[in-house]
Amino acid sequence: MADVTTTVIVPVELGDLPDGSALYGYAHPDTRRVLVVGGEEAAQQPGIRLLGRLEPSDEDRSDGDPGVELVARRGGTSGDLDFWWQGLPCRAEPYALSSDLFSRNSGLLETAALQKSGVIICGCGSVGSLAALELARSGVGRFLLIDPDLLAIENLCRHQCGLADVGRRKVLAVADRIRQINPKAQVFTEHLALEQLDPAVVAQFCEANADTLMLACADSRRADRHASRLAAVLSLPFLAIGLWERAFAGEIFYSHPGEPMPCYGCAFEGLAGELTAKAEPGRRFYSNETELEKLHFQPGIAIDIAYVTEIGLKLALDLLNRNNPAHVPRLLGQLSQYTLVCNSNDTQLGGERAEIFSHPLQVTTSIQVGYGKGCPPCRLQQ
Ligand SMILES: [Zn+2]
Repeated sequence: MADVTTTVIVPVELGDLPDGSALYGYAHPDTRRVLVVGGEEAAQQPGIRLLGRLEPSDEDRSDGDPGVELVARRGGTSGDLDFWWQGLPCRAEPYALSSDLFSRNSGLLETAALQKSGVIICGCGSVGSLAALELARSGVGRFLLIDPDLLAIENLCRHQCGLADVGRRKVLAVADRIRQINPKAQVFTEHLALEQLDPAVVAQFCEANADTLMLACADSRRADRHASRLAAVLSLPFLAIGLWERAFAGEIFYSHPGEPMPCYGCAFEGLAGELTAKAEPGRRFYSNETELEKLHFQPGIAIDIAYVTEIGLKLALDLLNRNNPAHVPRLLGQLSQYTLVCNSNDTQLGGERAEIFSHPLQVTTSIQVGYGKGCPPCRLQQ
């Protein structure tokens, strides 16, 4: 006879909950698997539902309560939990959220240190949403997401969120996806542009972290420059990831407070003072309607964005771990402060500027950045 026993996958921490606690999670009747995520605190997870409750051992089972599918009871002297699903005893499969979740990263990604670290993500579009989820998978435990936009249909072809999130604030949609990877992650959201945000909010977020990275992935250099200045004021490492038109290439810039180095404003002539017409065309996103239309017919754009972003994120991990002696840097020290990443050197995609690359998938390692004249953020670092 086929085994019809339901397997309940439960966090070992569940036993710490008080009797009577509601249990939340996901049920998959087709595979007879039930995943318990936690008590009341897990209720904000997207798509999660009330499964049942934790009952005292001396109470009769709630067979008669149709609203209670899952019953957990402390058994005998061991105090271990026993489970019933729809009135039938289940097999329990424990997991430890803190260790099992990232067990495959351990030793490789310095998970313990990363869980205490934080990332401020300015811009939760195609680059920012991918960055958020990849860093969550890597074990980063705290996030401050900043973005003024709502998710639109035309974003879907290059964003990590989906149809169910259209019309939602991007910051909330991305926050949900982070919690789907790590329910213990602390995610804070600000539905406005960084320029409008009280810097005290950012400063407060940094205070609670072992280490914090400012990650700029907004759709303009002006916004990234603002993030860079704030990073300098707060002595944070800074990383900007941006795409050139139609993502034929992208750029990655970093600085960190450990040693004097030119800031983002220095790197792009004219940015330290007022933004000049010359500085801006180097990078253009698909923020206007014409560009968006082109984008719809541009195959592989999400793949091109991801290629540049993932290289930037290797640097992000290095920057977050730069004071960790156990960390083996992936790219820090190999790439210069300003890196260009090429997806295609075909002029049909990138226009004339595509000719600066000698081959597709080229990653520059030698572009040097100089100091700007009287740059305010650089003066701050001295
Ligand atoms: Zn500077």
